[in-house]
Amino acid sequence: MSDSYDLVIIGAGFAGLVCARVAAERGLRVVVIEKKSEAGIQLHTTGIIIKEAADELHIPTQFTRKVRGVRLYAPGMKQIDLESPGYYFLATDTRGVLRWQAEEAARAGAELIFGQAFEGARREGDEIVLDKPAIRARYLVGADGARSSVARCFGLGTNSRMLVGVEAEFEGIEGIDPERLHCFLDSNLSPGYIGWAVPGVGVTQIGLAGRLGEKPSTDALIDKLRGVFGFENARIVERRSGPIPVGGAVRPFAAERVLLVGDAAGLVSPLTAGGIHPAFRYGRRAAQVISDYLLDDGPDPGQVLAREYPRYRWKALLRRGLDRDPPNWLYDWTLALPPTRLRPARVFPPQGFEDQGRLARFAAVEIRKSGIVNGYRLYWQTDNPRILDDDAEQAFKKSPQGGFDRHRANACQGPPGVSNRARLSRCDLSRREASTTQEDRHGQAGEYI
Ligand SMILES: Cc1cc2nc3c(=O)[nH]c(=O)nc-3n(C[C@H](O)[C@H](O)[C@H](O)COP(=O)(O)OP(=O)(O)OC[C@H]3O[C@@H](n4cnc5c(N)ncnc54)[C@H](O)[C@@H]3O)c2cc1C
Repeated sequence: MSDSYDLVIIGAGFAGLVCARVAAERGLRVVVIEKKSEAGIQLHTTGIIIKEAADELHIPTQFTRKVRGVRLYAPGMKQIDLESPGYYFLATDTRGVLRWQAEEAARAGAELIFGQAFEGARREGDEIVLDKPAIRARYLVGADGARSSVARCFGLGTNSRMLVGVEAEFEGIEGIDPERLHCFLDSNLSPGYIGWAVPGVGVTQIGLAGRLGEKPSTDALIDKLRGVFGFENARIVERRSGPIPVGGAVRPFAAERVLLVGDAAGLVSPLTAGGIHPAFRYGRRAAQVISDYLLDDGPDPGQVLAREYPRYRWKALLRRGLDRDPPNWLYDWTLALPPTRLRPARVFPPQGFEDQGRLARFAAVEIRKSGIVNGYRLYWQTDNPRILDDDAEQAFKKSPQGGFDRHRANACQGPPGVSNRARLSRCDLSRREASTTQEDRHGQAGEYI
């Protein structure tokens, strides 16, 4: 171990490890100081990675599995499915991901010191000096999580608004749709947030979050889910919990030669409470701007990132609404309303029509009912769920000509004055070879979008 570095990073989490790897790749002498004895232990996250993050950091597939969409459950357990063609989440073996990140950082040349807590530092001229371990560095990054010691040491902003998340990891849960991230709205169980069940990598993670000080109970959620999933052979293999900052980026998040990233900087969506993507994105950006600053006389990293760190304005507004604990009847009621059903789908980026072989895909699916008709699995979306059942099914029965019968679809218009067209949203032809031509599949179904 040397005693002089360009960059010292406190915290070997998602943000710190990305920052370490990229900074080392750019030629900085980097050291990471982590209080845990190794990477990926004592986790406090579910580890769901959104597609945008997966696109930015190519995690080996053995640590992930794709989850195609969300199943949202009202307090009364009415469900809707949300998905967008081409979009997915990654459930992760989070231990594996963090260990892999640590290996990558080390491979790039960063030094990693585990089992050593940050105990303070001071600025001496152009250097940051730590007493334990005794090292000097030209720059310090605080990637030490929601309750950052680096922030306190240098008088930077700290997270004030937090949720607390709790989770149990199970083996042996049966009957859970592996293609869905299952999300449960219930203000009694998770005031200010939601509960979740994630069919993960070899395990199922069940958890929920709520306001700090009102620690939510995983056992209460598990009891509620006994009627939904099979717990007969299930056993808990791990429990975890942790704070989630939801107040937006802290101010100030930087001082001379010191910068916060990840949870330490409050870079977590106040709405979804997802912080892994910003940890990856701004961990990497921090490394880039710090190396520009140290190696090429670039601008002050804090000033550059002040223009780039997200402000989460509208998400913070929505968070205020959630903090008021919408009553459960309101969730039950609103999930039954078409406009509200459409809104969550916009969380995902809208995707255009694309052809993926035998699967004809169309614009984002807001409301879905699927069913087998004449051997084809069909998916519908509609402005009015009342017409989803018989009318829509009749309307989209395959016509004798081999296409989808436009006239019958038109016949399923709802009551006068109500905009409630049923729309074929997706047609999965994989169950049976289609007699239709490619043009039929696209053109005919596209008529109803
Ligand atoms: C229950 C729960 C579930 C969540 N699920 C998701 C999810 O599914 N998807 C998502 O995107 N986000 C999720 N989050 C949020 C996400 O986990 C965080 O935003 C993310 O971990 C932030 O990464 P980070 O590297 O900034 O901080 P952290 O992951 O907190 O890493 C900080 C590191 O610093 C170390 N450290 C702390 N203090 C010191 C010190 N004094 N000295 C040395 N080292 C120190 C810690 O040991 C840790 O290794 C969840 C949070 C919780 C609590």
